[in-house]
Amino acid sequence: MRALTFDQSLSFQPRYRDPQPGDGDTLIKVRQAGICATDLEITKGYMGFRGVLGHEFVGEVASSPDKALVGQRVVGEINVVCGRCDLCVAGLSSHCRNRSVLGILNRDGAFAEYVRLPSLNLHALPKTIDDDQAVFVEPLAAAFQVLKQIQLDGRKWVTVLGDGRLGLLVAQVLRNAGCPVRVIGKHADKLALCEKWQIRSRPLADINPRHDQDVVVDCTGSASGFELAMQMVRPRGTIVLKSTFAAGKPLNLAPLVIDEIQVIGSRCGPFREAIRALAEKQVDVVSLIHRRMKLEQGVEAMDLAGRPGVLKVILTID
Ligand SMILES: [Zn+2]
Ligand SMILES: [Zn+2]
Repeated sequence: MRALTFDQSLSFQPRYRDPQPGDGDTLIKVRQAGICATDLEITKGYMGFRGVLGHEFVGEVASSPDKALVGQRVVGEINVVCGRCDLCVAGLSSHCRNRSVLGILNRDGAFAEYVRLPSLNLHALPKTIDDDQAVFVEPLAAAFQVLKQIQLDGRKWVTVLGDGRLGLLVAQVLRNAGCPVRVIGKHADKLALCEKWQIRSRPLADINPRHDQDVVVDCTGSASGFELAMQMVRPRGTIVLKSTFAAGKPLNLAPLVIDEIQVIGSRCGPFREAIRALAEKQVDVVSLIHRRMKLEQGVEAMDLAGRPGVLKVILTID
């Protein structure tokens, strides 16, 4: 099959080995896949991953032990878990000690003609969600995770730092939850999107950090973003860290101690809530699409997705 792989360098493979579905696995023919910051970080060495990249996808089930799934349009949760370890048993299966993660850890991903996942990981999509929206289910679920992790009641000063792909999803989810959120970013066109969605925003250049925010959600993907978050959050406030980055400069963590700041790491989230929000048109994701490119142009597409200010680049697979 055709696939976009990373093994020290990124390359398009016209004849990569077909996936061999194991027991209980479902084989999915990928229709579209989204490029995200994690994919870009992997090509800089994050997670030491080798294989087919990609974890944000929509596809059609080609074969499955669960016959009802065959032919269905699906999205898939990315953590493949054992169900037996202490963390799985404790209900923390996204942290399973024996997990593989689609296109990130020990498992080929979705920038390919076919991808395999256990049927338990799959969610069939309603017709009201088209393929363009469906590729955003995974990152939107990650945005919903913020609501699971913090209490917003009475928190008046909430900032999303970063106007990239994930920041703009988090901002919409927080706004929909009734939170008076504000986005801080570098790009006028993205801040204009916030205005269209009636979400307050400010250019980064205008910000004078004053240790006054109840919550700062860091979606910058950079060490300097986290430093700014530490300057913006109030004493005893909360930083939600959504960024994963391969390496960065040394960080001075003293402000966390001095201001007794709580830092919450935040990763994958609830698919069901993301699917519902898209079906009910509560979140605008289509405005985030920068360009569609063919899988064959994957190397070029990854390069484009890594340029400053570029939002979602989608790979189409025909
Ligand atoms: Zn992602
Ligand atoms: Zn487990």
